[in-house]
This record gives sequence, structure tokens and C-alpha cells, in this order.
Amino acid sequence: MAKICVVGTGYVGLVTGACLADLGNDVTCLDIDEQKIALLRRGDLPIYEPGLEHVVRRAVLAGRLQFTTDYAEGCRDAEFIFIAVNTPSIDGGTQADMRYVEKAARSIAEHLYRDVIIINKSTMPVGSGDYVTRVVREHLRDTSLRVAVVSNPEFLREGSAVQDFLQPDRIVLGSADRAAAERAAQLYIPLRAPIVITDVYTSEMIKYASNAFLATKISFINEMARICDRLGADVKEVAAGMGYDKRIGRAFLDAGPGFGGSCFPKDIRALTHMADNSGLHPQLLEAVMAINKDQRRVPVEKLEAELGGAGAIAGKTIAVLGLAFKDNTDDMRESPAIDVINLLLEKGAREVRVYDPVAMDTAKRLYPDWRVTYCADEYDCAKGADGLVLVTEWKQFRNLNPKRLHGVMKPSRTGAGPVFIDGRNLFDPAEMRLFGFRYQGIGRGSRSAALAADVLLGAAEAEGEAVPVDGHAASEGEE
Ligand code: NAD
Repeated sequence: MAKICVVGTGYVGLVTGACLADLGNDVTCLDIDEQKIALLRRGDLPIYEPGLEHVVRRAVLAGRLQFTTDYAEGCRDAEFIFIAVNTPSIDGGTQADMRYVEKAARSIAEHLYRDVIIINKSTMPVGSGDYVTRVVREHLRDTSLRVAVVSNPEFLREGSAVQDFLQPDRIVLGSADRAAAERAAQLYIPLRAPIVITDVYTSEMIKYASNAFLATKISFINEMARICDRLGADVKEVAAGMGYDKRIGRAFLDAGPGFGGSCFPKDIRALTHMADNSGLHPQLLEAVMAINKDQRRVPVEKLEAELGGAGAIAGKTIAVLGLAFKDNTDDMRESPAIDVINLLLEKGAREVRVYDPVAMDTAKRLYPDWRVTYCADEYDCAKGADGLVLVTEWKQFRNLNPKRLHGVMKPSRTGAGPVFIDGRNLFDPAEMRLFGFRYQGIGRGSRSAALAADVLLGAAEAEGEAVPVDGHAASEGEE
């Protein structure tokens, strides 16, 4: 069993450290955030991640997981040192901020007393393996020590991070030192996953290319959703119909308010920057980001349209369900809810009422100046609201009682019912309308299907032919 230090005890570092300890290794998790380490030493978790508390507790009780802020203690006997610090976008910019990695690499080098393998787990720009090697060499006290650097990108998803770490689709390792990569691979043998060993640049690129592809799928289906809305088709059924094709697959074809989180947006921006810097013009990546930016506005634009058009949000009370960027996490980094709430405030909403099962404290900490009302639960959130926007796909929102919800919302003057914008397509449009909501999903064919016929007829007439109008489509129009 190996002696391991994990530098950076955030979503990735804590999961990595706890799971490697659970697999029988002796792990020290290190962070410069003293509060975080104090919390962990007390037995509390600084983040919400299903199943993590149990793994941490088991590893601590077994004496295989320690926490420290002290590099000397963390690096002393370690054979492997993981770097799992944050690599955010530089403020307002497009590239990855490598200052945390640089500081971590320097501190590691200054506290090394034995040969070691440094494993880059943070998502770092292509070429970072060489960069970390250089920083470490420059700051080594004992220049006779052998230090190898291995890239080992992480693919876990917040919300299912423990399961993803323990049951990965693949492990990727890249290094100029093949023997070091093979030694690092030994740590993952118990997981019985395919292991790809390659050079360091390819390993770093696999991570960016994977995230770029997944983000592309999301922007693709969001663009399809907009077209579906116009033409009267239902994007959920389109995705299901597409997904049966094994070449396409159903995953990541859920239309919604756009992707967020700490990875996709920053990684796509960083990859775009790398391509730009190499004299390329990454048109697809730029389109993926542009579609995503526009998509953030879609739920609020739908709400405004349902409330009566331009200016209709002013003076209204709006409920927002969900703050986290996805379900099962308290992480709000680049969450679509931020754009939705800011846009509602910008459009003059009288009151924005919000609720999230676990991200309320995160929101209060990150956005202390938000003029929002924090509510006790979904029904409290919807109380007296003219409209509701569901932003996060929490399971408990799927189980909402529409009748109870309708009962607490404000009845509209025209009797048309309160507005429900389902940003995650959790509900059946016809059913929600039966409950009395003016309901809109994303890409569920909100415009009259007759428009599709118009478009088709227009095209055909231009070509001088008559086209029969499909009665089925016209009668199932969503309006
Ligand atoms: P995070 O912000 O949750 O955690 C980073 C931690 O590093 C923080 O606790 C911070 O205090 C600590 N830190 C910063 N500088 C340090 C230093 N010099 N020494 C010691 N600790 C230091 O970040 P995260 O979400 O865990 O992401 C870490 C990396 O993993 C990023 O590069 C990210 O892109 C990548 N990644 C994240 C996910 C994810 O779902 N969060 C998935 C795959 C890859």
C-alpha cells in the first residue's frame, strides 16, 4: 500500500484522498484553507457530496486518512503526491489560472526529502506537465532527488463523485517517464477499469477534449430545443429517438438552461484559448459557448412572454427553484441560476423567492448582496408568486405536488393560471396545463405547430408544390 499526499482538499482532492485511503493506502489530505482542514479534523465535511461522509469516516477510523495544512508533514514520506488544487479561469479572462498549481508545486519541491511521483490531477492546460516539472526542479532543496511528473486527469461528476471515482469508465495517465506512469497505474488496479497510458500532452488533451465533447452535446440539444419550440416538435422525444442510435447515445441530450459548474465553461474557454494561441480558429468551441450563453436567458424570456411580453416581469413576484448548477451538489460555480436570478432582478422583479435543498448557504455566502428571499421549501418559495422558474433538476422537485403548488401561487387576473417555466423538462406539459399552470418547458413545442406547417408550406409554395398539412401535428400543438 502506498503513502500518498493529496494537495488541495476540494471536491476532487477530498474524494481522491478518501477513496484512495478506502482502497487501503495511507493518505494525507493537505490544504492551505485552515478552516476547511479544521472542519475535516472535527469530522465535518466542507462540501455536500452523496456518500462521501461515510467513506471519509471509515478511512479516518481505520487510521488511513489524515488532514493537514503543513507541507512538511504531508510530503515527508509520500511516494505519490497528487496536485488537486483549483485551476479557475483568470478573472474576466479565458485562460486557466495556474497560480495555485505553481504555488503548490513550489511548496511540494521545498518540502521533498525523497524521490517522488507528482501526479497532476487538476485540469491543466496542455504542456502543464513540463511546467510543473520545471517549477519543481527550480525549487528543489536537494537536487539529487528524482521527481517524475504524471498527468492523471479526473473525470468524476459532482453529485456522484464517489461512485465515479470508484467505478471509472477509464483511467488516463501520461508522462515522459513511462515507468512512473506505470507505477501510478498500480494505485488504480483495484478499480478494474481500462487504463490508458500515453504521453503527457495527450493525457492533458484527453481531459479537455472529453469535456468539450460533452458540452457540445448539451449545446447541440439546446439548439435543437429552440428549433423544436418554433416548429412544434418535442425535444424530449427527439432526444429519446436519437439516443437509441448507438453512434449517438442518449446521455447529455437533455435540453435545459445551459451547462454550468466549475468545469465545462472554464475548460472550454481554456481550450479555445490554447487553440487561438496556436494560430487556430476553434469555431465549434466558440459556437458551443455562444449557444450556452444565449441559453441562460431562455427560461426568463419564456417567463416574460407568458406573463404578457416585454416589461411584464417588472413588479412581479417570481419563484426560482434550484440554485446549484446541478442536482446532488451544493456547488454554484457558473450555475445557470445565477444568470436567471440576475436577469429577473435586472428586469425589475418586485421579489425573487429562492429555494434549493442544499445550496442555500453557498448562495448566501457567495451572493450576500442578492435582493432575494430565501425560503424554507418549494411551497414556501412559490407562495404568492406570479411565476416560477425551475432551474435545477433535484429529484425532490420531480416529486412536487402540482395541485398544492398551484394552490399557493398567485391566481392571475385573467384566470389563465400562474406561470410555470420548467427549465429541466421534469414535467408533462399536458398534465401541468390540466392542473391550471401556464406551463412551458424547454423545446417542448411551445409555438403553435401550425408554424411548422407554415414553414413547410412557405418552402413548398416557393417551389410551386402543394404540401398536405399533417393534422396530427396541428392538433398536438403545445399552445
Ligand atoms: P476546489 O476549489 O473545490 O478545491 C481546490 C482546493 O485547493 C481548495 O480547497 C483550495 O483551498 C486548495 N488549494 C489552492 N491552492 C493550494 C495550495 N497552494 N496548496 C494547498 N491547497 C491549495 O476545486 P475542485 O472542484 O476540487 O477542482 C480541482 C481541480 O480538478 C480543478 O482543476 C478542476 O478543473 C478539476 N476537476 C474538477 C472536477 C469537479 O467536478 N469539481 C471534476 C474533474 C476535474
